[in-house]
Amino acid sequence: MLEAEGLVRRIGGRRVVDEVSLAVSRSEVLCLLGPSGCGKSTTLRMIAGVERPDGGRIRLDGEEVSGPDGFVPPERRSVGLMFQDFALFPHLDIARNVAFGLRDLPRADRERRALDLLGRVGLADHVGRYPHELSGGEQQRVALARALAPGPRLMLMDEPFSGLDDRLRDGVRDATISLLAESGTSALLVTHDPGEAMRVADRIALLRAGRIVQLGSPRELYERPSDRRVAEFFSDVN
Ligand code: ATP
Ligand code: MG
Repeated sequence: MLEAEGLVRRIGGRRVVDEVSLAVSRSEVLCLLGPSGCGKSTTLRMIAGVERPDGGRIRLDGEEVSGPDGFVPPERRSVGLMFQDFALFPHLDIARNVAFGLRDLPRADRERRALDLLGRVGLADHVGRYPHELSGGEQQRVALARALAPGPRLMLMDEPFSGLDDRLRDGVRDATISLLAESGTSALLVTHDPGEAMRVADRIALLRAGRIVQLGSPRELYERPSDRRVAEFFSDVN
């Protein structure tokens, strides 16, 4: 459902994303994995449409959203965004935060959908509270419900769990993966943590200095690394 072909982004004369090609199929979770500075966020931002590629093309469900044939702005790509520094609206209670992206629906439907999603991320008891009355992990789950509320065809997530402590992280991660699976939503998830990628990904694209060095199932990367550095990258995962 997502196809990116030969994506290039040049910054200051350097190719920070250098001919990246990847595809995500329906209901698939693809992890973009790699060390700091390798171009993960830049790749995600180009797919979201908030940063313009200098080359290549991006298709969503067969429609070109970025490339020689045109450019579709982010708000019309039907993608959900979840970033590490997700910001909830502090002046709206959590149900209104979730309902924010549903302005086109009648009020009653909007409320029903927000309550349903909050229930699914385990926050039914917290409806009516404001973001500052929740823990970090709870806020993150609200952000997840909010991103999923409009029914995006693709979720783009940039280190969505990295602000959480170990205990919270597992809970939010499990909630995220099961909600994606239930709704059949595809996802591109950026992480620098090989253990996290091994746990959540259907496939992993390993990036190094702007290029994909290996793309395959977690098992393939772990058992048949394409070079010694890939093997080293996974050596601490258990
Ligand atoms: P991290 O894991 O640290 O978040 P990343 O893989 O997400 O890293 P990017 O944010 O995509 O990396 O950045 C890729 C490279 O491009 C880095 O070397 C970064 O310094 C550079 N870069 C990104 N945006 C800009 C910018 N606006 N101006 C200058 N350099 C930039
Ligand atoms: Mg980044």
